[in-house]
Amino acid sequence: MWRKQRRVVEILQAAVVTGLPFVIINGESALRFDIPTLKLHLFGSVLWMREFYLILAATLFFLLFTGFVTITLGRVWCGWFCPQTVLLDLSESITAMAGKKHRKLLQKLILIPLSALVSVTMIWYFIPPAETLRTLFVEPTITAFFLVLWLLVYLELAFLGRGFCISICPYAMLQNLMFDKDTLVIEYDVSRDSTCMKCDACVHVCPVGIDIKKGLSSACIACAECIDACRSMTAKRGMLPFPNYRGQVLRPKTYWLGGATAIAAIALALLLWSRPPVDFLVIRDNSSLPPGLNRYSLIIYNNSGKQLALELSSSDQVTLIGEHRLSLQPFSAIHGSILVKSIGKLEHLHLRISGEGISINRETGFL
Ligand code: SF4
Ligand code: SF4
Repeated sequence: MWRKQRRVVEILQAAVVTGLPFVIINGESALRFDIPTLKLHLFGSVLWMREFYLILAATLFFLLFTGFVTITLGRVWCGWFCPQTVLLDLSESITAMAGKKHRKLLQKLILIPLSALVSVTMIWYFIPPAETLRTLFVEPTITAFFLVLWLLVYLELAFLGRGFCISICPYAMLQNLMFDKDTLVIEYDVSRDSTCMKCDACVHVCPVGIDIKKGLSSACIACAECIDACRSMTAKRGMLPFPNYRGQVLRPKTYWLGGATAIAAIALALLLWSRPPVDFLVIRDNSSLPPGLNRYSLIIYNNSGKQLALELSSSDQVTLIGEHRLSLQPFSAIHGSILVKSIGKLEHLHLRISGEGISINRETGFL
């Protein structure tokens, strides 16, 4: 039965999504976007929002991957992985154990703590879990964010539910445009219609309330419940279920789209891997200073998970006035400035940061 397999996938999905912020790699959550510093912690690496080429490569990979999965496997995301489906399915399964009486009311009650968990989990993707739990009812901004999110998630799940998939979800609308005749879908076998028992078991279990016998519907979330329900009826007669998965997964489009997605993934991995552990930016300030004296703004990014002790120096005949020794925390950036006094005539200034096996040179103008 597909339901059992879906439940296993759904429980795993819930465990991964809830647990990922607790997985610590190089001292940070495996996946977390830090708003104050605009950096994305990504499985032991860090992505700064100024690194457009990496953001672009990651976006390209994501779009290709989404297209690849949707065109070949149809609405597999909706039926097997979407958090909305997972939460509604799990709450329905818990409710079903308590019998038929007051099922709807019970589900609404179960969704209250589940929505709170969703709300706090979403915060964990922005604020480290330990800090979230410490400040949840102390910091007014976090408290307000948690409560508002909790309420919105609860209202959406409890009162809109599957209606969201049919009427609002933008991915659902996009999917219908991306399908082709070979995309994997759940379809009723019309050629065997004369042997269908018209028991409507498939209709009664459908979470979005459609009749699959009437043909493909854009509202179908490919949950396969109708296949299981029909199988429970047809198995007694030694027949295959009438609704079933149909499509051709392996075809030329699968290979070229899969190949393009794999190339994008490799390119992204190479870009991340080949990044220097430290990035160093120098910008000359336009403030009016006496000739021979210039001020520079410095930004130094530590892309590594190690604390670094570096030194700023110059190979030119200049005096650096300001802090030379730089201490960088893992995955951090420091912003500073330095005054440079030239002893002789100078057109270009050469600055270097070095230490811990790192040496980065930058050339900039000097007035
Ligand atoms: S038609 Fe079948 S697969 Fe589609 S949503 Fe309804 S029960 Fe799920
Ligand atoms: S459950 Fe199967 S046999 Fe019954 S109406 Fe649906 S398709 Fe026909």
